[in-house]
Amino acid sequence: MSIPVQNARQCLIWDHEHETMPRPNLEKLQLERLQKTVERCYTKVPLYKEKMDALGVKPDDINRLKDVNKLPFTTKNDLRDNYPFKMFAEPLDKVVRLHASSGTTGKPVVVGYTVNDINTWAELMARVYTSGGVTNVDIVHNSYGYGLFTGGMGAHYGAERVGAVVIPVSGGLSKRQVMLWQDFGATVLMSTPSYALVLAEQAKEMGVNPLRDLKLKVGFFGAEPWTMEMKREIEAKLNLEAFDIYGLTEMMGPGVSSECPYHDGLHIAEDHFLVETVDPDTGESLPLGQLGEMVLTSLTKEAFPVLRYRTRDRTIIDTEVCSCGRTTARMKRITGRTDDMLIIRGVNVFPSQIESVILTIKGLEPQYVIVVDRGSNYMDDLEVLVECTEKLHAQGDEALEKVKERLGADLHQVLGINARIKVVAPKTLERSEGKAKRVVDLRDFNN
Ligand SMILES: [Zn+2]
Repeated sequence: MSIPVQNARQCLIWDHEHETMPRPNLEKLQLERLQKTVERCYTKVPLYKEKMDALGVKPDDINRLKDVNKLPFTTKNDLRDNYPFKMFAEPLDKVVRLHASSGTTGKPVVVGYTVNDINTWAELMARVYTSGGVTNVDIVHNSYGYGLFTGGMGAHYGAERVGAVVIPVSGGLSKRQVMLWQDFGATVLMSTPSYALVLAEQAKEMGVNPLRDLKLKVGFFGAEPWTMEMKREIEAKLNLEAFDIYGLTEMMGPGVSSECPYHDGLHIAEDHFLVETVDPDTGESLPLGQLGEMVLTSLTKEAFPVLRYRTRDRTIIDTEVCSCGRTTARMKRITGRTDDMLIIRGVNVFPSQIESVILTIKGLEPQYVIVVDRGSNYMDDLEVLVECTEKLHAQGDEALEKVKERLGADLHQVLGINARIKVVAPKTLERSEGKAKRVVDLRDFNN
């Protein structure tokens, strides 16, 4: 186990050796690990052998880090098609845990972990906690869902690794969660951003003032895209510092990358994941620093190694050394997946654009639903339902109408299309205990 080292600027670092490694050394380590991973995939996972043979690539052809782009991509469909265990590189007697992605349609993606994989995951989550200043004196309130979803267990093991007290609450029963915050004196909150807002709302309803009654100081939020405006809202409502964390079941779960106290991008655990960006349409490699779809290759995973996974998340990678002392590359926060993008009347619309606009308008709450439908005239119809604050609601129809007009005008400015706006009463939209469902697309593209 590592001992956190504090640098001159008071930033705690869990694994000083790997998180601050000079880039040439880091790249050397990455190449060694990549070669081993490719060998493992080629010899143990039939799909990778098939794909590499089709491209005429052998493990021996990987001599430089750049050669990664000779390797085949892995897509979510590849993982689904090989349900449940066909992508495993270890027999089940070496596997000690399974998790699965939330499959909204059809079969989920199933991933496996060896003892070493679980250990690596705990280490990487320990890095996340430490970068937010969490140590063994902290009390971690974990509202991420426990179960097949990776959020709960990932957050749990990392908290134990740093020696903190972890409270495995999971999602739901919001009133009880707020009570436990007070009674146990939680200092750290782990939850999805949308659920953090639900809890903030619950606290307010119970007359709990975070500044006076709670000890929360930091929170680590992820598992769904959220905007900077939403982040500020959470910080203000819960009186804590919010850190953005990123991960995906296909690569491990949470812990792939996270923010440091400088909040200037998320540090990627590059000694465990090789990052590239590609053109989302052509799959062509882009130079780092250019906006593209992030592609990840696992470098140390045993049970479920993955080559060039198409994350569908769009970001920019920055390899400048950060002020916190870490040398690992940073990815810009993700505000949308390539497949989150809606095409409405031929215009590209990201839900995050709509969220940003909503949160700049006084009198509106960060609770909204975007509904897209297609009428009999084949025209797309965009409707935005958003809750107003109690205060605005009390001011009556005229005030509501003004805010509605303002939102319509601002959305038109940003999106270039008209949206129908419905400002609804406080607490009328459905709350989620995990990932929020913000978009309802009723269009039937099969007809
Ligand atoms: Zn940093």
